Amino acid sequence: MSTESSYLSKRVRMTILYTILFLLGLFSRMSPVEFVYGISFSFYSIFLLLLFRTFGIRWMIISASIIHLIAVFFYGDSIWNLITIAEVLFIGLFIVYKKMNNMVLLAGAFWIVLGIPVSIGLYYFDFFGDISNTQLYVLLCMSLTNGVFNALIADMLVTYIPFNNLLNPRESKRNVFYFHQIISSMLMAVIFIPFLLNMAYTSWNTQEKTEIEIQQQAENQISTIRRELEGWSHDELNKLMLFGTVQIGQLQDRVSYFASQNKSEIAITNNNNTVLAASASDIQQRLPLDIRQHEIEVAVTNNLSLFLSEEKAQNYSLARWSEGNYVYFEEGIHPSMQATLIFPIIAYQGDMFIYFLEQFRLLLFFLVSALVLSFIIKRFLVNTLNQLTNSTTGLPMKLQTNQKVEWPESSLEEINKLTINFKHMSKQLNQLFQNGELMNQKLKAQTNILQKSEEKLFEFAYYDSLTGLPNRQYFQNTLRQLINKDKSIDDVIGVLFMDLNQFKQINDTLGHVVGDELLRLVAKKLNLLQDDYTRVFRLGGDEFVVIFQAKNKEEVIKLGDEIISIFSDPININGLSLYVTTSVGVSLYPTDGNDLDTLVKYADMAMYSAKEKGRNYIQFFDEFMKEELSLRMTLNHGLQEALLDEQFELYFQPKMKTSTGKLSSIEALIRWKHPELGYVSPAVFIPVAEETGLILGMDEWGLKTACLQNKKWQDLGAEKVPIAVNLSAKHFYHGQLIEMIKRALELSNLDPQYLQIEITESVFMKNLGEVIGIMERIRNMGVSISIDDFGSGYSSLSQLVNLPINEMKLDMEFIRGIDVNKKKASMVKLIVQLAHSLGLNVVAEGIETMEELEYLQQIHCDEVQGYLFSKPIPHDELYNKFYRIEV
Ligand code: C2E
Ligand code: MG
Ligand code: MG
Repeated sequence: MSTESSYLSKRVRMTILYTILFLLGLFSRMSPVEFVYGISFSFYSIFLLLLFRTFGIRWMIISASIIHLIAVFFYGDSIWNLITIAEVLFIGLFIVYKKMNNMVLLAGAFWIVLGIPVSIGLYYFDFFGDISNTQLYVLLCMSLTNGVFNALIADMLVTYIPFNNLLNPRESKRNVFYFHQIISSMLMAVIFIPFLLNMAYTSWNTQEKTEIEIQQQAENQISTIRRELEGWSHDELNKLMLFGTVQIGQLQDRVSYFASQNKSEIAITNNNNTVLAASASDIQQRLPLDIRQHEIEVAVTNNLSLFLSEEKAQNYSLARWSEGNYVYFEEGIHPSMQATLIFPIIAYQGDMFIYFLEQFRLLLFFLVSALVLSFIIKRFLVNTLNQLTNSTTGLPMKLQTNQKVEWPESSLEEINKLTINFKHMSKQLNQLFQNGELMNQKLKAQTNILQKSEEKLFEFAYYDSLTGLPNRQYFQNTLRQLINKDKSIDDVIGVLFMDLNQFKQINDTLGHVVGDELLRLVAKKLNLLQDDYTRVFRLGGDEFVVIFQAKNKEEVIKLGDEIISIFSDPININGLSLYVTTSVGVSLYPTDGNDLDTLVKYADMAMYSAKEKGRNYIQFFDEFMKEELSLRMTLNHGLQEALLDEQFELYFQPKMKTSTGKLSSIEALIRWKHPELGYVSPAVFIPVAEETGLILGMDEWGLKTACLQNKKWQDLGAEKVPIAVNLSAKHFYHGQLIEMIKRALELSNLDPQYLQIEITESVFMKNLGEVIGIMERIRNMGVSISIDDFGSGYSSLSQLVNLPINEMKLDMEFIRGIDVNKKKASMVKLIVQLAHSLGLNVVAEGIETMEELEYLQQIHCDEVQGYLFSKPIPHDELYNKFYRIEV
C-alpha cells in the first residue's frame, strides 16, 4: 500500500518537474532576451540540458521536437534555431556514449568544432541576409557565449540542486562535489554573469540614448527646416505647392544640405503624400506610407517610430535590424507640408557591435585568466590534497604491510600541517600495530600453552598413564556413542572384556616393576588390533576391554581367537619368559543388551565364567550366566548363615607314603551342605567367602573341627598321622592366625606335630618378611607347613630356600599325564630332586592312575594323594576305610 502510494507520488513529482522544465524551455525558446539591434540571448538550452540530465536523452529529444514545432507554428521558424537542439544533442551523446561529464567543455567544443564552421558556411551562402563581417562575428561570439553559459548554468543546477533527490526523496543521498569543480564553475559564473548583465545593461542603455539622440536631432532638423520655410514668401510657398521647378529645386538643395549634416534622410511631402523634396532619390520606397504595408511599426515617442521588416526570424534578425529605420514624422511644418526623417539603424548598429566585440575580447581574456587561476588552484591545492588523499587511503593496511607512504610537500601551510598531523597519526598507528602484534604473539603463546594443558588434561582424564591406552571413562563414552549412533540393523558391537590370569600372583611374586612392564607389553600387543572398527582400552589393573564394530558374531569370534593367540607365546621381561594367559568374556550389542551398563555387566560375567573354565578361554555371554550370577548372590547370602547354622562339614582325603603305600597324613576339605542347593563345591564358594572375609571364621571352624577329629581318631587308637588343614592366605594378614592355631590345639588337646597347615603360594606375595615371621612362629609351635598347589603360581624354587616350610605339594597340573608327557616328567623329577636337596617332603596330588603313581615312585616322590586312593570322604568312612584295616 505504502509503496504504491509512494510510487504514485513519485510519478506525480516526475510529472510536475517535467512540466515545469518543459514550460520553462518553451517560454525561453519563445521569448529570448533581446539585447539590441538583433542581438538576443536565450536560456532555452538550459532547460533542454536539464531535461536531458533528469529524464534522459529520449525525453529531451521529444521535448525539443515539440517545442520546435510549436515555435514553427507561431513564427514560421528558421532552420537556424535547430542549432541549439544540435548543441544539446551533441552534449547529450557525448555524455551518454563517451562518459564525458563536463557540459561546459562540451558546449565550447560544439561551437568550435561545429557551430562556428557551420555558421560561417551559412554566412557564405548568404543565409543571414545582408550582414557585415562584424555582425557575423558578434553573432558567433554571442552564440558561443550563450551556449557555454547555458551549459555552465545547467551543469551547476544539476550539480548543486540534486534533481534525482527531488524525485526520490527516500533514496536521497548527500551530493558530493569536487573542490576544483566548485572553483572552476564559481569562477566561470563570476565572469559570465557580470558580463551578460553588463551587455544587457549597455545594450538597453545605448538604445535608449540613441533614441533620445535621434529624437533631438530630428527635432533640431525640423526646426531648421521650419525656420528655412518661414524665410520663404507666401508666393514662393504657393509655387512650391504647385511644384514650381525653382522652388522645388531650392527646397531639394536645403534638404540635401540638412541631411548631409546628419546620418538621416529627409523627405518633405505635401498633404497628398507627394514628395516635394528628398535627400535621397530612392526615398519614395522608404517613405512610411509605402513601408507600412511590409513592415511593423513600433512607436517610440509621438513622432518617432521604429520600422522593422515583418520577417519573423529571430536569432539571425541582424539583417532585419540592419535594414530597419527610425522614422521621425512631423505634420504641419507648414500648413500643407509634412517632414519625414529616416534614421537607418545600421549607422548605430556598427558602433554598438564594435563595442560588443571589445567586450567579448575582454570576456575571453577573463576566461583564460580564470582557466589559469583554476589550473593554479588545482595544482597547488587540489593536487596536493589528492596526493594526501592517496597517501592516506588504506593507511592502516599500508602501515601493517610496511609499505612506504609518500607524503606530499606543499607550499600551503595548512596542507603541510595536515600532512604532519597524518604523519604523526600514522606513527602512533604503527606503534599500536606493533603492540597489537606483540599482544597477538603473547596470546598465541598462551593459547598454545592452554591447548597443551588441555591436551594433557584430556590425556589424564581419558588415557591411562601406564599403557597409554584410553581408560575406562573413554571406554564408556565410546561405547555409549556407538550405541547411540545411527547404524545399519545388521551391525553388531562386540564388547570383549579380558583380564590376565593370575596377574595378581605375578605382580606379587615378581614385583610391581615386572607387573607394570607386563601390562605395558600386553597393551602394546593389544594395540596392534586397533583399526577403524576396533578400539582397545585399559579399565584398570589387569583388565582390558576391546570394542569391536562387527558385521556379525562370527567376526567377533575371530577377533576373540586373535586375542587368545596373542597370549600363545611367552612374554619376555628382563630375560624372564612368562606364560601369561587371558580369560575373555564377550557381550554383544544388540542381542545381549542395548545399554552400556548391561553390556558391561554381561561381558564381565562372561569373563568370570571364562576364568572358571581355565586358561586362555573365550566365553560369550549366555543366559545361564545370569543364573550363575544369581547363584553367586544366593551363595554369598547363604554363606553368612551357613556358619551359624552349622551347614559346613569336613571331608577327609588321605595322603599315602609312596614307598610303602601307608597312610601318611589326612587332608581336611570343607564341604557346604546348602539347605536348598545341596553340596556346593569349595571351588565355587571359597572365592566368594574370600571376597566377603567369611573365610576367616570358616577356616577357624575347619581348623578346630579337624584338630578335634584327629584327636578323636587318635583317642580311638588309630595310628597317629598329621591332619592337614587348608588355610586362606588372608589369615597371614589379620594377626589372629597364631592365636587361632593355639586355641584349636588347646581345645582339641592335639599334639602340634599332628597338625599340618596347607597354604598356597599366594601367601608370599605381600609382606614376605612378616609372613615368614608368622610361619616361623607356627613352626616353632611344632606345627608343620605345606605349600599347596606348588607350580600353579609364580614362586620359584630358589625362593623356597628362604621359606620356613616342611612340605611341598605339587599341583595336579604337573601330575596329569606325567607318564606320557616326557617334558613334564623330567621337570617334575627335577623339582622333586631340588625339593629334596632343600630337605622338603614332596607330595604329589591328584593321582588318578597307576601309571602316574609308578612314575612318582620311580622318582622318589615322598607322598601321593588322589582319587586313585580315595576321594575326600566323611570322617567315619575314612575311619572305616583306612584305620579299621590297620586295626
Ligand atoms: P586343595 O587343597 O589342593 O585340595 C585338593 C582338591 O583336589 C580337592 O578339591 C580334592 O577333592 C581334589 N582332588 C584330590 N584328588 C584328586 C584327584 O585325583 N583328581 C581330581 N580331579 N581332584 C582331586 P576340593 O575339596 O573341591 O577343594 C578345592 C580347594 O578348596 C582345595 O584345594 C583348597 O585349596 C580349598 N579348600 C578346601 N577346604 C578348605 C578349607 O577348609 N579352607 C580353605 N581355606 N580352603 C579349603
Ligand atoms: Mg590342600
Ligand atoms: Mg592342592
